[in-house]
Amino acid sequence: MMENIINESPFVPSPVIPTSYDGSKVIQFRCHKEIACFNACCKNIDITLTPYDILRLKRRLDLTSGEFLLGFTEPYEMDKDSIAGVKFKPVDGGTACQFMTDEGCSVYEDRPTACRYYPVALVSMRKQNENTDTHSYALVEEAHCFGHKEDRSLTIDEYRHEQGLEDYDEQGRGWRQLILKKKSSGPTVGAPSKRSLQLFFMACYDLDRFRDFVFSDSFNEVYDLSDDLKKTLAEDEIELMQFGFRFLRQVMFSEESIAVKADAFDKRLAKKQEREAAGLISSEPAPEITPDSPYDHPECGCD
Ligand code: SF4
Ligand code: SF4
Repeated sequence: MMENIINESPFVPSPVIPTSYDGSKVIQFRCHKEIACFNACCKNIDITLTPYDILRLKRRLDLTSGEFLLGFTEPYEMDKDSIAGVKFKPVDGGTACQFMTDEGCSVYEDRPTACRYYPVALVSMRKQNENTDTHSYALVEEAHCFGHKEDRSLTIDEYRHEQGLEDYDEQGRGWRQLILKKKSSGPTVGAPSKRSLQLFFMACYDLDRFRDFVFSDSFNEVYDLSDDLKKTLAEDEIELMQFGFRFLRQVMFSEESIAVKADAFDKRLAKKQEREAAGLISSEPAPEITPDSPYDHPECGCD
């Protein structure tokens, strides 16, 4: 079912050859600096970023996640009124990638998943109301890319290994699963609230803000994290990102994997009533934590 497909190719669907392959498919392709089309693929970009792409790039540039998002990305809706995605923002007034230089990619070792895959596209699918995901590959052939004419053959699995994609796919799996699950849910089953969509944006893309959230008093009033886990989350961003995927499964789909404190609900209610009695807050329900958007942009679902 096409509507359940997440195509991680950075390109519009038309150049994607509509055949699905497994990793043993042999392709003919080579990209190198001396090729006549060098940089052509980075001059007109449409690249969706995974949470791991953002983590790698913000680290490389020594930026916070909020600084990286503001400077180098723009949000978009993956589905109408649904989850937010993040794309590279091209150069001012142009279509080229901000990281393209005459010598090639200036962030090559940390380039995003979609850039690594090209000209292969990862196709992840989940059928409506099924619990398992399937993956296959498609090929992208565009007139401007001469890499297909080069005399080198290798399997898609060998190409993925060469491009360092095992690590990227592994780290991005939890994010892809969340999106597939959301897309494969019926119109009412598993429909997440606006607040859970805001949390989705923060936990997936704005990792430094998510860390602050996890170590906030209000989070710790509700969730029961061991000291060991807290230490790991404070020190290891990849673990924090993976914890974020677990947290989102719990918030969006009620898949309980993080212990909730037994008295959490009573304590929060008592606190709210105390503040109401003292006239500090109105009796109208309001979220305790608002995950602010790094963008001044109302459409991203995280304002
Ligand atoms: S990150 Fe690098 S490889 Fe990807 S589009 Fe930009 S310059 Fe090209
Ligand atoms: S061969 Fe294809 S991927 Fe490599 S630089 Fe040329 S257009 Fe880009």
